[in-house]
Amino acid sequence: MIRFNKASITELEKQYVIDCMENSILSGDGKYTMKVYDWFRTNMGIENMLLTTSGTTALEMASILIDLEEGDEVIAPSFTFSSTINAFLLRGARPVFCDIRKDTMNIDETRIEGLITDRTKAIYAVDYAGIPCAMDEINEIADKYGLFVIEDAAQAVGSSYKGRTAGTLSEFGCYSFHETKNYAMGEGGALVVNREQYMDRAEIIREKGTNRRHVLKGLVDKYTWHDIGSSFLPSDMLAALLAAQLERYDEIMEKRMNVWDTYHSGLMELENKEKLVRQFVPDYVQHNAHMYNILLPNAEIRTELVAKLKERGIMAYICYVPLHSAPKGMQLGYNPQDCPVTEDYGNRVLRLPLHAEMTSEDAAEVVEAIREILK
Ligand SMILES: *Cc1c(COP(=O)(O)O)cnc(C)c1O
Repeated sequence: MIRFNKASITELEKQYVIDCMENSILSGDGKYTMKVYDWFRTNMGIENMLLTTSGTTALEMASILIDLEEGDEVIAPSFTFSSTINAFLLRGARPVFCDIRKDTMNIDETRIEGLITDRTKAIYAVDYAGIPCAMDEINEIADKYGLFVIEDAAQAVGSSYKGRTAGTLSEFGCYSFHETKNYAMGEGGALVVNREQYMDRAEIIREKGTNRRHVLKGLVDKYTWHDIGSSFLPSDMLAALLAAQLERYDEIMEKRMNVWDTYHSGLMELENKEKLVRQFVPDYVQHNAHMYNILLPNAEIRTELVAKLKERGIMAYICYVPLHSAPKGMQLGYNPQDCPVTEDYGNRVLRLPLHAEMTSEDAAEVVEAIREILK
């Protein structure tokens, strides 16, 4: 049996979480949250980040910070998770879905300018499969029209673009530390604040609209209500889990990379025979081995492959089901033909199992199974 995902938990994770329970380190912003910030400062050069209860709520915080309101438009891919879109739909903004590139399956930057109107306020760029978008081009368009860029880097922790860390490539980056992502705290995420002037307000929004952080920093002696906000900070017990995972950053990355590389070399022959197309990585990207996708010739072959892999105990899943043609997308007035590449790829992409508890031998078994099934 090869599971689709399994978090890698060792004695270190247990030790940190038990420390929290034994010493009553339970609410947010304790020593383990600070440890996580220190890690990102030292290893990724990130000065300003705030842990959140999920990648979803990091996106919601970003949507509050850019003051989206009723009638605003946001350009975003349809080939993403519902959270990317819900984050601004909740503020009353409307999604303008942009089709994807055929190679990276990221938002097609050449189509963005044609979608801009006088209501456009932001672009939400999703680093699909941990591969950063063409951010220089996207930022250039945003500068020209005065738009915000939010980087949904939920899958891209540890990736880089032209040597720059994913999540730091625009005003705000959003990370996820969900169990299915590279570094897990169960449910959790982070908002990376790349323009320092937003940090004060971000801390207030995260603390139910109060300046509680100012008390903790000793700046004032009592806190009060300043803004809208919610409870966006996670328990330090979950931060403890993440702190342990980050201490094992290299080990987890290497294990994932071994699986990724085994897929990539093992599937080359099938690509040459035009049975499938392998995951693509542009040369200006260092990826984080988050996902391995294959593109199949048609939906029927994919359905058959999923079923036959399952018979052999190998779990592979579809990712993503396009949003513009999902029930909520249709309700917003979209039709399947509005994003033809997304619609087509949504029917043919398959995501193979990939996690740090898998070995290269497991990956070789998956390759062999695919080879036999597609023969
Ligand atoms: C996982 C994911 C999210 C949501 O993150 P959660 O931590 O699960 O809320 C958002 N966007 C993308 C692209 C994701 O992959």
